[in-house]
Amino acid sequence: MKKFIALALASVMSLSLAACGSTAESTADPEPSTSAAVETSEASEEAPAGGQIIGVAMPTQSSQRWIQDGDNMKAQLEAKGYTVDLQYAEDNVEAQVSQLQNMITKGANVLVIASIDGEALTDVLSQANDNNVKVIAYDRLIRNSEHVTYYSTFDNFQVGVLQGTYIEESLDLKNAEGPFNVELFGGSPDDNNAYFFYDGAMSILQPYIDSGKIVIKSGQTGMDTVSTLRWDGATAQQRMDNILSAHYTSDDVHAVLSPYDGISIGVLSSLKSVGYGSADKPLPIVTGQDAEIPSVKSIIAGEQTMTVFKDTRTLAEKTVQMVEAILNGGEAEVNDTETYDNGVKVVPSFLCDPVSVDVNNYKEILIDSTYYTEDQLQ
Ligand code: BGC
Repeated sequence: MKKFIALALASVMSLSLAACGSTAESTADPEPSTSAAVETSEASEEAPAGGQIIGVAMPTQSSQRWIQDGDNMKAQLEAKGYTVDLQYAEDNVEAQVSQLQNMITKGANVLVIASIDGEALTDVLSQANDNNVKVIAYDRLIRNSEHVTYYSTFDNFQVGVLQGTYIEESLDLKNAEGPFNVELFGGSPDDNNAYFFYDGAMSILQPYIDSGKIVIKSGQTGMDTVSTLRWDGATAQQRMDNILSAHYTSDDVHAVLSPYDGISIGVLSSLKSVGYGSADKPLPIVTGQDAEIPSVKSIIAGEQTMTVFKDTRTLAEKTVQMVEAILNGGEAEVNDTETYDNGVKVVPSFLCDPVSVDVNNYKEILIDSTYYTEDQLQ
């Protein structure tokens, strides 16, 4: 019996240790409990949330950033006394719709949604409206619905500008003669953000394409051609394989515009499989986005060149303010009331600032800000 109790205790302990471990790995803020504790006591002095339920719908756990988004939202909302129903739909559009329907049925007061397909939620948002449930679009705009109260995101055009500018500066496009061989990748065509990232990058790169200083040897340009459904790294790797075998048997690629770290990792695998990354065949410049741990490690190892850091703690903070404004009858802070027309209305938005990160500033931006610990990047 004693042995059984000891075993049971040991397994409970190891379970809870494992839980701590996984929280520590997947949570952006290494001190969520500290900040949560502070905010809880503040919250109890202010208006308590009185058991109101916030449904938080995230797209997938296959990408680290969305795990951090979910963790931050949950921690910050719970610290203010809300009950949080956090769901991930693993990039399955129907699953996300039924999760949202469930949240409405279970009495959610507000839905915070990072959509998978931004055009697929019109009906479920009508249903939310019929039940007096308000909706905030989180990071990705929800299109074709009037029932979106706020949009919290980053300056998505600027993300692309940062990626394009990094290529411009690294290749010294203003001064060098070129020509340079560049290939372009876009994000998922059902994600409104993907067009903003692409347009932002092309606002920097297009003049060099027009003047011939940049050559796209594959001839593949435009979101119709370069998009990557569901931001899938394997799809991007396959496309890069095809491009390399069809157009680069005797020439080298000098830069690849990649909109997201998962795509960058796929592109890098493809490049390495045909010999890039050796002394006589250096890897091209490869951009990225989200500062996901595998990509930051790749940057430190000299493979991926840059990424764009989006502080999900700030995004969660701004979104929680929107939730509170909706439920307490106030108005949330917005800083853009022009850009995000969802096809039915311009959604009042708060745009957070994205930051360009490479091997020279990752310590300052990612470690000094306590987003990651040094250990996580080793
Ligand atoms: C987000 C990006 C992310 C991408 C893939 C976009 O909607 O804004 O930060 O890289 O989805 O998950």
